Amino acid sequence: MGIEKIILSYILKCRFKYKITRYKQEVLEMKVLVINCGSSSLKYQLIDSDSEAVIAKGLCERIGIDGKLTHQTIGKDKYEKVVAIPEHNTAVKYVLDALLDKENGAIASLSEIDAVGHRIVHGGEKFANSVVITDDVMAAIEECNDLAPLHNPANLIGIRACQAHMPGVPMVAVFDTAFHQTMPDKAYTYAIPYEYYEKYKIRRYGFHGTSHSFVSKRLAELVGKDIKDTKMIICHLGNGSSITAVDGGKSVDTSMGLTPLAGLPMGTRSGDIDPAILEFIAGKEGKSVQEITTILNKESGVSGLSGVSSDFRDLDNGMKNGNDRCRLALDVFCYSVKKYIGAYAAAMGGLDAIAFTAGIGENNSYVRKMSTTGLGFMGIDIDDDKNAVRGEEIKISTENSHIQVWVIPTNEELAIARETVELVNR
Ligand code: AMP
Repeated sequence: MGIEKIILSYILKCRFKYKITRYKQEVLEMKVLVINCGSSSLKYQLIDSDSEAVIAKGLCERIGIDGKLTHQTIGKDKYEKVVAIPEHNTAVKYVLDALLDKENGAIASLSEIDAVGHRIVHGGEKFANSVVITDDVMAAIEECNDLAPLHNPANLIGIRACQAHMPGVPMVAVFDTAFHQTMPDKAYTYAIPYEYYEKYKIRRYGFHGTSHSFVSKRLAELVGKDIKDTKMIICHLGNGSSITAVDGGKSVDTSMGLTPLAGLPMGTRSGDIDPAILEFIAGKEGKSVQEITTILNKESGVSGLSGVSSDFRDLDNGMKNGNDRCRLALDVFCYSVKKYIGAYAAAMGGLDAIAFTAGIGENNSYVRKMSTTGLGFMGIDIDDDKNAVRGEEIKISTENSHIQVWVIPTNEELAIARETVELVNR
């Protein structure tokens, strides 16, 4: 190669590198609006994808009833406003106004929002990954409405409202169910006539997938093993709770089912019960299946058991003050967590690490302790001093423990923002 050619090739390489660097800068420095839309609420966070810091966050509540907006730009005062929010379009308008507000806002122009990530509850069997939202994707999400009639229609309304106010801004759908699409058929199939699966897609789907995925990746990092060679159990314990067996980075079983009513007992949800109980209560109390399903969703769990509260802080206090039903509710919950740990270790044929996450998992040392007490035979040994810590990323197992046990704060909004950035730049 002549000297001119060498110089030319060097110049071209440098220019290409410069372009890559510039491209990378554009990729990395994005402001992503994360939207979590419920039937009467809309939670949001504006996240800087470079630093992964929250720039602003807030909540529109009581949409369609009266309306309240709570907003905080980080570093500025948090405020609440009672405003009429008749529907979700208005809610999105208030969110954008709050972000643009000269005094308490976070951005000078809407053009600063590079992408929007939407949390979608149910992707059925159609979505095993997050996707950029197109008309076809909207139609496919709509087809899953049957599977999550309370959530998916609200998620779609949220997307449409954002599209109306931010035309041309790329939007991404991140599904609660997607992470669990790797489950084998033996884990997701219910032993009911197979035609119900064929006709109606009745099967286990699982939820909290964004959290289970986020926490399992972090747990593998903390344990210092390649995720492909790691067997983990993730205990997402919050007002809604689910436990997932993650083998080689993939969900292989999870406690929630067709709906988020299944699995562990929760704040107000029963979790798994004998299905014959429905007919039994219907006969005794003269109630319809729908009414009983509402009771199982809203009046059961630790709330129904204790008769005190769905909040584990109240149960802790109740138990300390000698309330035996609070003690029972906590016992039933922790016993169930322990059984899932044992079952999933057996399902995976081994276990390297466990993570506790979400409101209860991150903060309630009693639940963590009771759920792992008696598992010494599996090689689990908890350090009580470390376990006393709340809300922090920390290893709570002793150095002698064969299985590492960690508390890892979850961050679903950040996980959605990361997915959004990745997809928009693909
Ligand atoms: P989540 O649905 O993840 O917000 O979790 C709600 C549950 O977490 C409630 O039962 C609370 O008792 C519990 N929780 C949340 N924050 C705390 C805290 N700082 N201390 C103790 N428990 C908490």
